[in-house]
Amino acid sequence: MRIYVCVKQVPDTSGKVAVKEDGTLDRASMETIINPDDMAAMEAALQLKDETGCQVTAVTMGPAPAEGMLRELLAMGADDGVLISSREFGGSDTFATSQIIAGALHYLGVGGEDVIFCGRQAIDGDTAQVGPQIAEKLNLPQVTYVADMKKDGNVLTVKRLLEDGYMTIQVQTPCLLTCVREMNAPRYMTIKNILGCYQKPVRILDYNALKDDPLIDLTTIGLKGSPTNIFRSFTPPKKEAGRILAGTEEEAVEELVSQLVKKHVI
Ligand SMILES: Cc1cc2nc3c(=O)[nH]c(=O)nc-3n(C[C@H](O)[C@H](O)[C@H](O)COP(=O)(O)OP(=O)(O)OC[C@H]3O[C@@H](n4cnc5c(N)ncnc54)[C@H](O)[C@@H]3O)c2cc1C
Repeated sequence: MRIYVCVKQVPDTSGKVAVKEDGTLDRASMETIINPDDMAAMEAALQLKDETGCQVTAVTMGPAPAEGMLRELLAMGADDGVLISSREFGGSDTFATSQIIAGALHYLGVGGEDVIFCGRQAIDGDTAQVGPQIAEKLNLPQVTYVADMKKDGNVLTVKRLLEDGYMTIQVQTPCLLTCVREMNAPRYMTIKNILGCYQKPVRILDYNALKDDPLIDLTTIGLKGSPTNIFRSFTPPKKEAGRILAGTEEEAVEELVSQLVKKHVI
């Protein structure tokens, strides 16, 4: 049994968000972190490894420095890493990103009791589309918003987070789960694993390695294969200044309610 965890390196949006004059994100001046939901996905995978001894592979698509993030995941306990990286993959939207990652997973082989873990959402792109699209492209069942999970052979019992509660779903492997950060508290790297992380294998899959896979086609990957295009990006306008409502308590409440109705808040 093999577990694949799809992990994205993202700018740390909780720190200083730098925007260039043309309105695009100044990624170079921002710290990068491992996407928080993906840390929960990795922890869930490592818990399965603790129980069953299965192999855990960290998979990322990104530029060459993303290998450093893979090493951190190896130091957490993952067995090996796969870096999907090539000029042809640049500029991909979520359709093309999921096409490439699905192609790489297909090339690596997914079957039997294997499970693919993703985060629910990346904190930079924020679409929550990549996980479900990978599942579709690999023809696998999927459960999103996973808050807990137990595996018994080829059946997973999954607790799925809803807006106002939970639902329990059983799903057969091979399958894909997208995890929420409420799922667990990711473990720290250990000294032993930090010392060993450079001995563990990291494979680089570029366009040449993947081009014969049926899912990899120049018309479905990269900027050319992306059905959506970012037309413009800009910083949202600053919030208006606050206003103190005048009049009696009743008048102020009436005005407040009418303003909230006008703004479609209630
Ligand atoms: C026209 C266009 C051009 C773009 N060009 C670029 C570009 O040049 N460079 C760039 O970085 N982005 C680019 N993007 C953004 C890119 O589409 C998203 O970064 C990417 O598709 C992931 O979407 P998301 O961030 O919303 O992830 P979500 O869908 O929110 O992510 C959900 C989960 O999917 C998995 N996942 C997502 N992305 C990856 C990944 N790369 N590797 C492994 N797992 C992953 C993770 O488990 C993650 O938690 C472009 C987008 C568009 C529309």
